[in-house]
Amino acid sequence: MNNHALSRRDLATVWHPCTQMKDHEHLPMIPIRCGEGVWLEDYDGNRYLDAISSWWVNLFGHVNPRINAAIKRQADRLEHVILAGFTHEPVIELSERLIAVAPPRLKHCFYADNGSSAVEVALKMSFHYWRNSGRPEKTRFINLSNSYHGETLGAMSVSDLALYRETYRPLLWETITVPSPECSQREDGEDWESYTRRMFAHMETALERHSHEVCAVIIEPLVQCAGGMRMYDPVYLAMLREACDRHHVHLIADEIAVGFGRTGTLFACEQGGISPDFMCLSKGLTGGYLPLSVVLTTEAVYAGFYDDYSNLRTFLHSHSYTGNPLACAAALATLQIFEEGGIIERNRALAKVMGDESRPLADHPHVGEVRQTGMIVAAEMIRDKKAKAPYPWQERRGLAVYQYALGKGFLLRPLGNVIYFMPPYVITPEQIQALARVAEAGIDRATR
Ligand SMILES: *Cc1c(COP(=O)(O)O)cnc(C)c1O
Repeated sequence: MNNHALSRRDLATVWHPCTQMKDHEHLPMIPIRCGEGVWLEDYDGNRYLDAISSWWVNLFGHVNPRINAAIKRQADRLEHVILAGFTHEPVIELSERLIAVAPPRLKHCFYADNGSSAVEVALKMSFHYWRNSGRPEKTRFINLSNSYHGETLGAMSVSDLALYRETYRPLLWETITVPSPECSQREDGEDWESYTRRMFAHMETALERHSHEVCAVIIEPLVQCAGGMRMYDPVYLAMLREACDRHHVHLIADEIAVGFGRTGTLFACEQGGISPDFMCLSKGLTGGYLPLSVVLTTEAVYAGFYDDYSNLRTFLHSHSYTGNPLACAAALATLQIFEEGGIIERNRALAKVMGDESRPLADHPHVGEVRQTGMIVAAEMIRDKKAKAPYPWQERRGLAVYQYALGKGFLLRPLGNVIYFMPPYVITPEQIQALARVAEAGIDRATR
């Protein structure tokens, strides 16, 4: 088997996610034969450094021996069982461990099998809680501009990225969209915290006006990842928590992308010193191995559903693979790696290297901004730095960087004109350095 033969078979039958298949008339499809650590290897023997953690899921490298062993052990014991009326050790232990490390007040775990479904669960639970509490007029959600919460219709309704959303708009419900505090729009010389504080006024106004009809505010804490790795100051989280309490509105923290050490703390919410009413986790939850998601919620929300069956307050939501034991075993092995310590500290040190190595990018005549939160660094390509004029999206300059990097053995997958690094935590300082230099050369090529 070689790349060419497999690619031909692939393109005959596989319809790939988030892909214009016609692009593959000229872009090679890359079949991956195996992985190890930060590396992926194709059938022609080319190796690629996975600088985007395979869509932000991988934490401790591909084919991690410890996670592999945990899954194999579990597979020999129990692959799956219905989670209604039945339970199993991995899901019990995972719930206990998640609650132990999550922000305080989160006491119950509801499982699904992907991030979008976790968002759906949180939205439905919040709405249903208010209904159970005699507040059926609370039916709306507040979201941020430039937000992304997934691809299912409910998750898309509370998202605000025109690229993914616009086509389906007639199918989506209306939300109250508040301008994002993300700092790429701040004035020259204004610091993140001042800008973030200033932008909170919009949220306060929306809550004052609408709280009587609002179930919850949904946010991505600290980094709007799919929206171009746009970042804001943790002070927003503290201000939002206080305002949600004051206005009797739930706070949903979508930590699907930022959870599990990505931002320099285990969960991004910690940096604002807050506990949300719902925290959605997926992606890194299983170390990037298997589809699993979970919504953690409070005793108060749980109690809002706890009643005699005939009173019809039950949360009647399920997915076939809810709480799958193999996925739970992978998640437990992942948490075990965190628990043995040193990961967050090591990430902070690696984040510093990422910052140092990326700094020269900011001097590039066609890079508008280099921004960083923990182990996420993003550089935005821009046509005219002074006028802050972007490149027309039709020019697909990000794609040019993608192709250049692939040729050099690096997997980057820019979001439009935003080049970003979000590598597995097992990357080395030398690899980060090489990655930054390739990105720089790629940007150079793409902006010529
Ligand atoms: C990826 C992502 C989702 C959706 O998760 P899927 O598993 O792809 O459905 C939701 N919210 C955020 C912030 C994400 O990054």
